[in-house]
Amino acid sequence: MGGAHCGGGIYLASTAFDSIRIDNGVPMPVCQHLAHSHYVAPKVHVCAECVAMGDEWVHLRTCLHCGHVGCCDSSKNRHATKHFQATAHPVIASAQPGEKWLWCYVDQQWKE
Ligand SMILES: [Zn+2]
Ligand SMILES: [Zn+2]
Ligand SMILES: [Zn+2]
Repeated sequence: MGGAHCGGGIYLASTAFDSIRIDNGVPMPVCQHLAHSHYVAPKVHVCAECVAMGDEWVHLRTCLHCGHVGCCDSSKNRHATKHFQATAHPVIASAQPGEKWLWCYVDQQWKE
């Protein structure tokens, strides 16, 4: 009698950190960078480096480590990627209105 099975291996998606992308019904594990990161809204809505160069960008990305805002890989200057290469800050967030996904450059993973 009394053999209630508690706990063992039950996955509870109960916190914001656990809200990872579900692909084909299978939860994808996220890397440590993403697991410990959460969305941060951009402080500015321009790529300052493009502005300084007189160039244009397509989309903006926010560095979650220092708040740097740079342009995405669809933009010709790719300042967000250059920022990662220069600083090794691994995680960016989309700075586009309505988008709240994160991307880890180190592990090439994303979550939303
Ligand atoms: Zn990572
Ligand atoms: Zn730029
Ligand atoms: Zn940074």
